[in-house]
Amino acid sequence: MSIKQTQYLSKTVSDLKPSGIRRFFDLAANMEGVISLGVGEPDFVTSWAVREACILSLEQGYTSYTANAGLIELRREISNYLKRSFSVEYSPESEILVTVGASQALDLALRAIINPGDEIIIVEPTFVSYAPIVTLAGGVPVPIHTNSKDEFKLRPEQIEHVITDKTKAILICSPNNPTGSVLSKEELVEISHIVEKYNLLVISDEIYAELSYDQPYTSFASIEKMFDQTILISGFSKGFAMTGWRLGFVCGPGEILQAMLKIHQYTMMCAPTMAQHAAIEALRGGMQDVEAMKKSYRQRRNFFVNSLTEIGLPCYTPGGAFYAFPSIENTGMTSEEFAENLLLEEKVAVVPGNVFGESGEGYVRCSYASSIEQLQEAIKRMGRFMEKRK
Ligand code: PMP
Repeated sequence: MSIKQTQYLSKTVSDLKPSGIRRFFDLAANMEGVISLGVGEPDFVTSWAVREACILSLEQGYTSYTANAGLIELRREISNYLKRSFSVEYSPESEILVTVGASQALDLALRAIINPGDEIIIVEPTFVSYAPIVTLAGGVPVPIHTNSKDEFKLRPEQIEHVITDKTKAILICSPNNPTGSVLSKEELVEISHIVEKYNLLVISDEIYAELSYDQPYTSFASIEKMFDQTILISGFSKGFAMTGWRLGFVCGPGEILQAMLKIHQYTMMCAPTMAQHAAIEALRGGMQDVEAMKKSYRQRRNFFVNSLTEIGLPCYTPGGAFYAFPSIENTGMTSEEFAENLLLEEKVAVVPGNVFGESGEGYVRCSYASSIEQLQEAIKRMGRFMEKRK
């Protein structure tokens, strides 16, 4: 009898759907002249000073493991940065863990808290990884649906509606991927009242914290009484344009952090040493480059979002990250049909909203982390695409 490789696989993994974003990348990769608004990463190269710090660390021979929690110098810099920028205080010795991207930080947080069957509330449209990593950790993702009328903001009563005796935590992401929505301080305070009432834990994905364009950023951990009930996730990928360095961090009250550290030391040992040396410079060197990138994204956001609305793709103004999430409802197409036709007819790659969960249907995600010339050309092509459908 022949052996089927699938017979060895875990049922949980077999049941996991592959990411819907992939299919479009593969389609686009085989075509020429495509403008990609598909990828979720900065179009900037990491600052030279940061790259130089990495090179220097290699010249000095720093090529071995670091402490499991990360270089203490880096943890001190992260602690200072969070205090200075977001008024939250974490101890570098016991409340900060340096990870392989925010991705590993999220995975550690979920694995540290989930018992089989625990429910984790996620907000749709959602970052594609949340539901799968909850499932992989043995939990059950429970969606809350948001829409453009509410600027994709969850309302506190929506949380209350889905709470059961199995609810352990809520995962929030502001500024949001894929919608760009930003929760204000007042809105976070309202959420905190529900969190307190039901004794929930909040996993706050703050990876886009540096990219809030219209209001100062509020970290959930800085909200009154929330420090002990928050796991703060962040990293260098977005604001510091360091996606390929794979460096993030997670902060949390001592015992929760120590639980994550336990998993980390057995599964990862430590984050890449050279990337940690680079990150020290990213935080020590001042925020001029981060500010300049932010200014540039803000200008591009204004141009792109206004232009989308003008060509018949209504788009609320996202307050952060680098995504526009226009409605395609008036085209009569599903988000997959829209994305596929736009790619085949006009060679513009966007991501269909349905890959971000059920409530992403009726929208597409366009990343505006592209040059202004590329964005102008994309708008020209998308305008032509819309004209044909009038
Ligand atoms: N959270 C969100 C909301 C993201 O958009 C991303 C990257 N696309 C991540 C986490 C992971 O970031 P990292 O590169 O730090 O692993």
